[in-house]
Amino acid sequence: MLCPKCKENVPRNNFCGNCGEKLLEKCSECGKMEPIGRKVCETKLEKAKQKLGKHLKNNIRYWIFYLGLFGGLPATALTAIGFSRFITTLFKINFNAMPDYQIIFCIVTPISIAAVLVFLLLVLLGYKKQKQAEQKATQEFLQKHPDYAEILRKAKE
Ligand SMILES: [Zn+2]
Ligand SMILES: [Zn+2]
Repeated sequence: MLCPKCKENVPRNNFCGNCGEKLLEKCSECGKMEPIGRKVCETKLEKAKQKLGKHLKNNIRYWIFYLGLFGGLPATALTAIGFSRFITTLFKINFNAMPDYQIIFCIVTPISIAAVLVFLLLVLLGYKKQKQAEQKATQEFLQKHPDYAEILRKAKE
């Protein structure tokens, strides 16, 4: 922990190992030794965080995001194949008459780029949706439990 007096990072102890400043005191709320000057009781904060975590776990269907991601893989591949077909048709490419480097340049590279782009887009969308769901669930939790909300708010100050 950070000593408030000498600003050294020292092991959590009753006294600072560097300057001897008293670091911990008995918490009047939970009876444990906690850092002097803490914003809220550490035990209560830990409990509030646990409850919030549990609420998020119970209320957010995380599997949907993973399903979306894995379901997106075939979609990504199909998009890539469609894209490459579009290119070959557009430029009237004849595979049999093409040297290998041209196949790589005209087919493999566009497929790879399209696949990566679509996949990145999916990951980004999934991440955004997940964050939104987390925000909403957190808001619900705070409204439902004003006591925990108060502790979490104080800890952030
Ligand atoms: Zn110190
Ligand atoms: Zn406490």
